[in-house]
Amino acid sequence: MTECRECDVIIVGAGAAGLTAALYVQRYGLKAVVLEKLAPGGQLTSANLIENYPGFPEGISGYDLIERFRRHAEAFGARIETDTINSVERHDDRWALSGSRHNYLAEAVIIATGARHRHLGVPGEKEFGGNGVSVCATCDGFFYRGKDVAVVGGGNVAVDDAIYLADLARKVTIIHRRDALRAERVLQERAFSRPNIEFAWDCVPVRINGAETVTSITVRNVKTDEERDIPTDGVFVAIGFEPEVALVQHVVETDDGHIITDDHMRTSAEGIFAAGDIRRAALKQIATAVGDGAIAADSAYKYIQARR
Ligand code: NAP
Repeated sequence: MTECRECDVIIVGAGAAGLTAALYVQRYGLKAVVLEKLAPGGQLTSANLIENYPGFPEGISGYDLIERFRRHAEAFGARIETDTINSVERHDDRWALSGSRHNYLAEAVIIATGARHRHLGVPGEKEFGGNGVSVCATCDGFFYRGKDVAVVGGGNVAVDDAIYLADLARKVTIIHRRDALRAERVLQERAFSRPNIEFAWDCVPVRINGAETVTSITVRNVKTDEERDIPTDGVFVAIGFEPEVALVQHVVETDDGHIITDDHMRTSAEGIFAAGDIRRAALKQIATAVGDGAIAADSAYKYIQARR
């Protein structure tokens, strides 16, 4: 029989929000267990250079930042465990979480599961996944040294990835469905100044082509309806994220796939709090995820205090 672990607060997700919540929960004198499917980090692990998180004027890689978050939470006694949570149910006056490795019982739960990469849904994307199609420039950029790559998307991640890849690849083509980028101005200017970054404006991918590996991407111009092939050795998909809400959508209220919270990070379910990209919010940044995590921990602490 699977062992049942009990603690004060279970935090699902070890990204910026989850690890901050863990640090605060521990400092309130409560016991936090952080559960993560794979390694800690969430989206942060694939961020090349973070330049807008205060305190790091020279920038810091996502990997290094999350490593600091992890060490900081653990220094105050937080336990970070690898487990995939499959269900969250009310059990008497606590919450029961069923994981692939263990079961858990907690008075309060903080959902900080973040978001997963959005997919294009075109032919070739799945077939060449991990072999010519990637969602992580930091992880896979190295394989495209001296080659041609395409990046799909016009947001911060796409433009940041393109700038990173431009140092490695011969040529980078940003494929964007509009004629203006969504990314911050400072990133746009950096991309425009790179001689080996080209733009395929007003274009959406139709299919990714190749045999053993990727050889081209077919795009359609949304204004003219014309299709053309862009030769490429690799395609990086950076078209945003979708919240990982499936685990709790039967117990908390959601809106457009995001958990609804109040200013205290309380959800519609008593004892369940949400923090970071999983919740409906005006801005999704590391700085806001960290703030959410701190507030969620504070609210969980007050909730537990009131019960005892
Ligand atoms: P994002 O800002 O949502 O941008 C997604 C991009 O993909 C948009 O340009 C969008 O086009 C395009 N797109 C969406 N669906 C598409 C589809 N089906 N086909 C083609 N193109 C599609 O997402 P992100 O760049 O991944 O960033 C995610 C979050 O992380 C943002 O909140 C961002 O600010 C944050 N972030 C911040 C930084 C930073 O501050 N330096 C770095 C990384 C990430 P449209 O523009 O036409 O909508």
